[in-house]
Amino acid sequence: MAYILSVFAVRNLLVLSLALNVSLVLRVLLLHDSQDGSFNGFFFAEQKEEALATKITRLSSSVSPSSSSLTMAQGDEDRVINLDHGDPTMYESYWQKKGDETTVVIPGWQFMSYFSDATRLCWFLEPEFAKQIVRLHNVVGNAVTEKRHIVVGTGSTQLFQAALYALSPCAEAEPISVVSAAPYYSSYPLITDCLKSRLYKWAGDARSFSKNGPYIELVTSPNNPDGFARRSVVNGSEGILIHDLAYYWPQYTPISSPANYDLMLFTVSKSTGHAGMRIGWALVKDEDVARKMTKYIEINTIGVSKDSQVRAAKVLKVISDNSEGPNEGDSFFEFSYRVMAKRWKQLREAVQQSGLFSVSDFPPQLCMFLNRVFEPQPAFAWIKCEGDIEDCESFLRGKKILTRGGKHFGVSPKYVRISMLDRDKNYETFVRRLSTIRS
Ligand code: PMP
Repeated sequence: MAYILSVFAVRNLLVLSLALNVSLVLRVLLLHDSQDGSFNGFFFAEQKEEALATKITRLSSSVSPSSSSLTMAQGDEDRVINLDHGDPTMYESYWQKKGDETTVVIPGWQFMSYFSDATRLCWFLEPEFAKQIVRLHNVVGNAVTEKRHIVVGTGSTQLFQAALYALSPCAEAEPISVVSAAPYYSSYPLITDCLKSRLYKWAGDARSFSKNGPYIELVTSPNNPDGFARRSVVNGSEGILIHDLAYYWPQYTPISSPANYDLMLFTVSKSTGHAGMRIGWALVKDEDVARKMTKYIEINTIGVSKDSQVRAAKVLKVISDNSEGPNEGDSFFEFSYRVMAKRWKQLREAVQQSGLFSVSDFPPQLCMFLNRVFEPQPAFAWIKCEGDIEDCESFLRGKKILTRGGKHFGVSPKYVRISMLDRDKNYETFVRRLSTIRS
């Protein structure tokens, strides 16, 4: 009897523990989803549904392995492909291959202070990160670093705001106008007007800007969304320029000469693909401007994560080492150049097969870094729906391809921006689907 009871009790315990585990897994899933949802506007409901469906598929496949392959095959055909954001997940496979080369271990007692180097103008800039920034620009030849102050930011998004703060005249009665030539990066108007500042105000397309007096012009080169190299377009005498060079790297465009502007913004998000580190840097000629930008970041976030800077320094170091060393063929820029070249070829073929879309051609140029002539292969495809499709974003949404429509960039809804930086599997499904769209 005692034996039967103990077996029964063990069984009960097993069932109870199974039930508890299942409920715990479900709770984690639900909690995770509600956290996703708090990034309002960043994740689409469709993506959440898709993510949940994937989780459920994964759970059920662990119960019934024979049904899982069928679910995957079906899912691939009709699943939602989200290419709205430029999330650079395409780079994961390279860094995975590199294994521990970029692994960083930080003991609990390190980087506890707010300060990195109190004697520097940008006192929260990690010296090793500063060193690797200068080194990488010298290796690639894409920016002048001599006689420049480096200001680190939580992504170049924070540096953009710091630059607006630093460059706006504070004695003016009216906020200074901020402009950029359309199609412009869709976040510029949102960030500029987010706090309804009395210092600066979004004034739209730089090409139609004709107001007298001072203004700030944002020059993004290569441009997001259309990938073209750019120069300032406003002809005023009191213009202050911010050059956003997030994409001035050899996987996207030939590096013709080192950029040499007063205020240049860079980010690891699009250069190395480490968007999650939230690290950007500004190269600033004018000391007062650099000081004011530093002040803004001090007020805003009291500096920038040291952990992220140390990690970023390591990644930049590995890129420089591999670009110069004997394994040059396996360097980061060779890898990313090849992936982008392949993707652009696939895209152009798909666009041709479909016949419903068009995409720009770019003039080839010599890249001084890769030492070859090639056409720009931007991080985004700027696609136009031809014929009578007026709203390209809605049209593609109908085909379960999520993109960002032209109106967000200050132009016609006949255009959409499509990220070229997603994982292989998503990208392949996208081009396959695009090539079959007829109407
Ligand atoms: N500038 C441009 C032109 C961009 O496309 C992006 C990223 N989409 C950023 C800045 C923001 O970069 P970060 O992730 O460093 O904030």
